[in-house]
Amino acid sequence: MRPVARIREEERRSPLKTSIYLDHAATTPLRAEVLQAMEPFLAGNYANPSSIYRPAQEARAALDRARDLTAAALGARSQEIVFTGGGTESDNAAIKGVALASRDRGRHVVTSAIEHHAVLHPIEELVERFGFESTIVPVDRCGLVSVEAIGAALRDDTVLVSVMWANNEIGTIQPVEAIAALTKARGIPFHVDAVQAAGALPIDLSRVPIDLLSISAHKFYGPKGVGALFVRGGTLWWPLITGGGQERNRRAGTENVAGMVGMARALELLMEERHTAYDHVRTLRDYLFAQIPPRIPGTRVNGHPESRLPNNANFSFEGVHGESLLVALDVAGIMASSGSACTSGSLEPSHVLQALGVSHAVAQGSLRLTVGRDNTQEQMERTVETLAGIVERLRGLAPVSERA
Ligand code: PLP
Repeated sequence: MRPVARIREEERRSPLKTSIYLDHAATTPLRAEVLQAMEPFLAGNYANPSSIYRPAQEARAALDRARDLTAAALGARSQEIVFTGGGTESDNAAIKGVALASRDRGRHVVTSAIEHHAVLHPIEELVERFGFESTIVPVDRCGLVSVEAIGAALRDDTVLVSVMWANNEIGTIQPVEAIAALTKARGIPFHVDAVQAAGALPIDLSRVPIDLLSISAHKFYGPKGVGALFVRGGTLWWPLITGGGQERNRRAGTENVAGMVGMARALELLMEERHTAYDHVRTLRDYLFAQIPPRIPGTRVNGHPESRLPNNANFSFEGVHGESLLVALDVAGIMASSGSACTSGSLEPSHVLQALGVSHAVAQGSLRLTVGRDNTQEQMERTVETLAGIVERLRGLAPVSERA
């Protein structure tokens, strides 16, 4: 069977296909067109692109083309793209790379309270191990960071600002263009985690003076463990991983040719379909917003009413535990996420929901539904019906003290 026909058949039989997958912020399925582009470098041409024989040169050419496509999709120059092993590596490389390269100039970094741990933890490491100070700027009840608050946090010894383009839990889109203008005026490097934004919002780095930007292929229908870091020419930055001279000495290690070709193909498809793809997920997501709060009393919508990713919906249901909700949804064939993590037996709300200032109880009852290109209207209708039934049942089971 041809590879594309095979993946379509496997997808059709997969439990992920027979269920309703509403967790596209966690990861997305690999598109058949992407697999097709990767296939020659997974099975046929296994040459190391650094070797000199013909297949190696072909692999090198594919890598070069992947870099050109990635750069074009972001409005960057090819030499500004460093291929990495995903979003976490890109964030770490950006933060530690800039901070450590500039530590003689200053040891202060600024970020927001709702960044992904791939940003917050490297910053904590800078503080705990390398004598840096950090200012964690709070967000408002919708998860928005204020440009003025970022401005007020800047100091003469600030060497890096890192603010995400869009949040992975609540979907809030930050004013990164205004922050970029501010940091540029102060001559401070600005890193943006665009891991969630890259699949959903246009990014044009020829227009916005961002200095470093992270993306990850598996969030936009590409392969897992593949990403890129944009580093604007002239940025003072040290590579995190050293060894061979790959990626112009900026990220050592034999290149994941198939992965990078796949990421570039996914970006290419995204560019081609940009206008229509977002409309579809927005329409489905808006249906959830229109139906769920009136249908389920005691529902709170988390995140910003307008400035949010087109595919993200995040709710809290009073008197319901997110974890129980997820289990019940799973049994009903619906895959989603909550904003709580189970730590030592107790459900600790995520740092993002805590930063919004919502009560512990409300945060514990949160549910993230993230829509994708393969979802249908019929699936949204089934989701609303199923969810309403489950919330009612769980509320019936909850101790009276936990009900609204
Ligand atoms: N940053 C954000 C905003 C994310 O949502 C994620 C993944 O969920 C990451 C970084 C980490 O990306 P990766 O899974 O590619 O390491």
